[in-house]
Amino acid sequence: MMAPINEEREAAMPMPLTRRSFAGALGAAAGAALFETRPARAAVLAAVHRGAPDDAIVLSFNENPYGPSASALEAARRAANIGNRYPDAAEDDIRAVIAKHHRVSRDRVTLGCGSSEILQMADTAFTGKGKKAVAAEPTFEAVLDFARVLSAEPVKVPLTADFRHDLSRMAAACDASTGLVYVCNPNNPTGTIMTGDEIASFAASVPASVTILVDEAYHHFVEDSGYRTACELIDRHPNVVVARTFSKIYGMAGLRLGYAVGSAERIAAMAKYATFSNANAVVLAAARASLEDAELVPRVRKTMNDTRRWLVAEMKRQGRRTIPSETNFVMIDVGGDVTPMIAAFKEKKILVGRKFPSLPNWLRITIGKPEEVQAFAAALKEIAPAKPAAA
Ligand code: PLP
Repeated sequence: MMAPINEEREAAMPMPLTRRSFAGALGAAAGAALFETRPARAAVLAAVHRGAPDDAIVLSFNENPYGPSASALEAARRAANIGNRYPDAAEDDIRAVIAKHHRVSRDRVTLGCGSSEILQMADTAFTGKGKKAVAAEPTFEAVLDFARVLSAEPVKVPLTADFRHDLSRMAAACDASTGLVYVCNPNNPTGTIMTGDEIASFAASVPASVTILVDEAYHHFVEDSGYRTACELIDRHPNVVVARTFSKIYGMAGLRLGYAVGSAERIAAMAKYATFSNANAVVLAAARASLEDAELVPRVRKTMNDTRRWLVAEMKRQGRRTIPSETNFVMIDVGGDVTPMIAAFKEKKILVGRKFPSLPNWLRITIGKPEEVQAFAAALKEIAPAKPAAA
C-alpha cells in the first residue's frame, strides 16, 4: 500500500569499497559505528526509550518511523569523517541555503539544536520576569515551560470547541506586559490548523511590541488549501517569527536541527542566546542533503498521510471520534481516561502518547509504519472496546 521509504534507504546503504569509502572507513571508525547500516532494533529502542521492550512499537513522540533519507545519511557519514573540525563553514552554508529556500537574507535566519532551542531562545529574548507568555491549552508545552524557568507569567487560552486556537481570545490576552504569544500551527497535540487568513488577521490585531512565535514543526504534512506559512507575514509584521524543524518530515529528531525565520532585528535578539556551534557537522550535512532532495517531502508526506487516513477510517469503522489532523499524529476519543489505557498498551508493547490533562479521554497516536498503526488499531479494540452508539 505504502511507498517503501526505508527499504529504499536500506537498499542504498551497503557501499562498494571505492577509494572514497575506503578512505572514509579508515578515517572515521566512530562515524561508521554511528551510522551502521542496520542497527539492531534492540539497541535503537534502548537508546530511545529506556526500559522499553526490544520489539516495542513506538507511536509516542511524533517521530518519523522511516528516519533520515538515503542522501542525508550518506552526507552525514561523510561529515562525520571531518568531525574533528568546528563546523562554522557548514553552518554559514546551511543558513544561506535556508535563507534562499525562504527567499530572505541570511541575517533573517538563525539555527537551533532542534526547534526546542529556537523556542527557548525566543523565550529568553522576549519574556522574563514581569512579562507574560501567551499560548493555547493544550499545545506544545515547551514555550510555557521555558517561560516559567525565566520567571515569566504563563497565560493559557483554551482551544475552541473544535480544538483550534482561539485566536481572538489569545489576541485579547496580549497587552503591554506580554513578551511573546505562541501559535502552534498545526497544533500539537490536536493536529488542527489555523488558516493563512486567520493568522494574518491575528498578526494585525496583536500589538507590534509582542513577538508572535509561530511554530510550524508539522508544516510539511499539511494538505488543507486554506493553510499558509506565516513566513509570508514577516515583511508586513516584523514581530512574527517562524520556527521550523528537521525532526519531523525529514526524520532527523535524534540528530537535532531547527531554525527560525524572522525580521533581522528579532532574529538578532534571539541569536544572542544560541550556544556556539549549536548545530553539529553531521546534522548540518544531513539537513543540507535533505533540502536538496526535492522528492523527499512529497514522498514522506504522502506515505504518512495515507497511513493517517487509514487509521482515521479504521477509527470510524470502530465507531470512534477523531480530531481532524493535518499532521503525523491523530487524537482519538477512547471514551474514558487514557491513563490506564496507556499502561495497557505498554503491556502489549505499544508506546502511545501521554495524557493531556485538558483532554483526558483523547489518546494521541503518532503515525508509524502501516503495520505498526494496524497493530495499534487491533489492540485498541481489546483495551477499550467502542461503546455501541446510542439508538
Ligand atoms: N514544536 C512542536 C510543535 C513539537 O511538537 C516539537 C516536538 O515534538 C518541537 C517543537 C520540538 O522539536 P525539535 O526540538 O525536535 O525540533
